[in-house]
Amino acid sequence: MILIFLGAPGVGKGTQAKLIMKKYQIPQISTGDILRDAVRNNTPLGQKAQDYMNKGLLVPDEVVIGIIEERFKESSCKSGFILDGFPRTIPQAESLDKVLDKLDIRLDQAINFEVEKEILIKRLSGRRLCKNCGQMYNIYFNAPSREGICDQCEGELFQRKDDTLETIQERLHVYQVQTEPLIEYYQSKKKLATIAADKDQDTIFNQLCNLLGN
Ligand code: AMP
Repeated sequence: MILIFLGAPGVGKGTQAKLIMKKYQIPQISTGDILRDAVRNNTPLGQKAQDYMNKGLLVPDEVVIGIIEERFKESSCKSGFILDGFPRTIPQAESLDKVLDKLDIRLDQAINFEVEKEILIKRLSGRRLCKNCGQMYNIYFNAPSREGICDQCEGELFQRKDDTLETIQERLHVYQVQTEPLIEYYQSKKKLATIAADKDQDTIFNQLCNLLGN
């Protein structure tokens, strides 16, 4: 099964991708995660991407397309994958079509997760992550019992550099201008499904499973 998860930053597509990955045993390919790892490890890719990411801008198309092509070669992608955060521009989507054609594989569905802008801003600006175990919190919706400390492992919580209010506004703007046109792109190919993602995690997951045919 080949899926694309579309939607603005903060819609929860990463969380849902992880749940789908478990249920269907197909990997989640998150270009955001791959780039963040590269920045953390200070690799040449990370050095190229860091400035764009900190400003809330998109990393150049050729860089992310290269990442995806490399990732598809891995054996874990043989029975399918979920693309989370890729494509994010029309040229990326066109390149993806070419790569899939070359590999003779077919996209099953692009799923567009929809959430109101005000909720997205709270979800992103309130997001906190554990430095130690990666557990995610939100100071508005799912706060840890002690401020700044992980309930699970007592690790220190931190805020992603691109989750500050100013950068969030920029990311949402970039989404609207560069990524939203993909909705029309996949609609015209009759590959688009939409999920109202303003509900709780389990409800959204059930909706998603119904859509994918359990
Ligand atoms: P995400 O975790 O998906 O919100 O991605 C975090 C950041 O990584 C984005 O704001 C971009 O700077 C960069 N990024 C992730 N995926 C892409 C992509 N497909 N194209 C360009 N930049 C990306």
